[in-house]
Amino acid sequence: MSITENLNQIKATLPSHVILVAVSKTKPNEDILEAYGTGHRVFGENKIQDMTQKWEQLPKDIEWHMIGHVQRNKVKYMAEYVSMIHGVDSLRLLSEINKQAKKHNRTISCLFQMHIAQEETKFGLDIEELKEIIASDTFKSLENVKIEGLMGMATFTEDKAQIRQEFVLLKSMYDSLKTDLPEMDILSMGMSGDYDIAIEEGSNMVRIGSSIFGARNYH
Ligand SMILES: *Cc1c(COP(=O)(O)O)cnc(C)c1O
Repeated sequence: MSITENLNQIKATLPSHVILVAVSKTKPNEDILEAYGTGHRVFGENKIQDMTQKWEQLPKDIEWHMIGHVQRNKVKYMAEYVSMIHGVDSLRLLSEINKQAKKHNRTISCLFQMHIAQEETKFGLDIEELKEIIASDTFKSLENVKIEGLMGMATFTEDKAQIRQEFVLLKSMYDSLKTDLPEMDILSMGMSGDYDIAIEEGSNMVRIGSSIFGARNYH
């Protein structure tokens, strides 16, 4: 099936309150333009350098989401245009995003990435670490970032029950933080292999790559 067909089919099944981030990492501009041609505008990348190159070359009404791990020294390359940063996992990173956003007179939307998977290699905060950040004076002083919600990735496994359990955990973190962060309304969870489970468990933003653009050829 074509990118257009994949995208239309997925969109037809998504509930209307769920935002689709089309994950175009490693894919060429022509693939993104095909998706763009269907009217889709929200795209996700996991490398700042690739995303910036695509931003420079592609239509300016695309909303670029940074979904990968972010190094502080690279925030400056995307601060001018990035629409949302999903992978905020430290106060130092958030402070840098705030600083760079300020230089461009912008407020950048951010999600805290939570650690819900069993794999140690996956990035993210646990609830205690996040509560510590939220309670800090530094956090309260940041005026050029807006915390829109939480993001998480489930363990890479065939075990659907485990995946569901991890999404339930993230949803419960999200609900319990609502008092501290009342502006939050995004729960970014679910990828090609598990977005149906994620939506059942409360996701309202899914990040889908290979089911739209086909398998990636790296690793
Ligand atoms: C690559 C990636 C996705 C999309 O993965 P697919 O399985 O291709 O849908 C979603 N979220 C993050 C953080 C990713 O790095």
